[in-house]
Amino acid sequence: MTTLATTGAATAATTAARPAPGALAAVPDRRLSLLKPTGRLTLGNYLGALRPMVAAQDALPDPSAQCFYGIADLHALTVEHSPEELRSRSLELALTLLAVGLEPSTLFVQSHVPAHRQLSYLLECVASTGELNRMIQFKEKGRGVDSTRTSLFTYPVLMAADILLYSPRQVPVGEDQRQHVELTRDLALRFNRTYGEVFVVPEIATPAAGARVMALDDPTRKMGKTGSQEAGTIHLLDDPDTIVRKVSRAVTDSETGPDAVRRDRDAKPGVTNLLEILAACGGSAAGVTTYGALKRTVADAVVAELEPVQARYRALAADLTHVSAVYAEGAARARAVSEPVLAAATAAMGL
Ligand code: AMP
Repeated sequence: MTTLATTGAATAATTAARPAPGALAAVPDRRLSLLKPTGRLTLGNYLGALRPMVAAQDALPDPSAQCFYGIADLHALTVEHSPEELRSRSLELALTLLAVGLEPSTLFVQSHVPAHRQLSYLLECVASTGELNRMIQFKEKGRGVDSTRTSLFTYPVLMAADILLYSPRQVPVGEDQRQHVELTRDLALRFNRTYGEVFVVPEIATPAAGARVMALDDPTRKMGKTGSQEAGTIHLLDDPDTIVRKVSRAVTDSETGPDAVRRDRDAKPGVTNLLEILAACGGSAAGVTTYGALKRTVADAVVAELEPVQARYRALAADLTHVSAVYAEGAARARAVSEPVLAAATAAMGL
């Protein structure tokens, strides 16, 4: 799950009244992005989510005040889980977010900020079972299963809380998350109508198309943290030999000849995926005419791209007290923004 939001309304929801339209425009953008600590992070996560988060941060004048990048550990509890594995995945993600170049002052862990689950409960008292029943992800993940965790049913409400606590004006989402943001809007509108104007109702924005990395063994499927074959997935922390081996076994096609190395998403999905990975990693296929040479070039580019991230990751892993301090500060910062919103919602409901 990723929530990517921009907000210009840093103060909007800290008061029960909505600010004048001009006041919103005067406040700089804020980004909100939460990543779920399940599965091992992949090259797809890196190119499609983490690197764009760094780019967004670097383009903003005051990332500490404008970026809220979180580890959505509460969302990892919606299916059967192992506490030990969740802890290690959360730590891996915490280290990775720092290793890829995100500013320490932009990071926080969702479960360290109690307002997320507190507001989630209040919003559950605004949401109806009918609208949660219509959530596609619940229908898909719960299909054929006699009994799922209740949280799989209610997590879209937690997502709404995640978003509304940071008062975004805009939430750029892909199609798979659109329904969640529509629910967020519906809940915010209903709450404001019923209990008074507390929440900024976010607009749904269409994000710029990001890199979409496909599985190496089946280039018609996304390279995913879960559900993909190990052979088709490059993990962020794979060592160079493993990366070379996986890329060398990537599925291509049987075309030969001087023009075989070219992009054609429909007819040549494997080769196209390799070329796109190469371009995203700053490499070039100029002069490359065989698939063997292409794979070597791609593997070199991926290794070169990931090596500095892995080196920083190892250095960070050697001193976890530093990492804990980063996330403690992040929790304080996220609380300072989210608690007034929660307080306004709590008071508006008569508690
Ligand atoms: P997920 O791993 O599905 O929870 O996704 C976390 C983030 O990584 C989301 O922003 C996804 O869009 C992004 N992401 C995951 N897999 C890929 C992929 N294969 N290509 C590009 N982006 C991806």
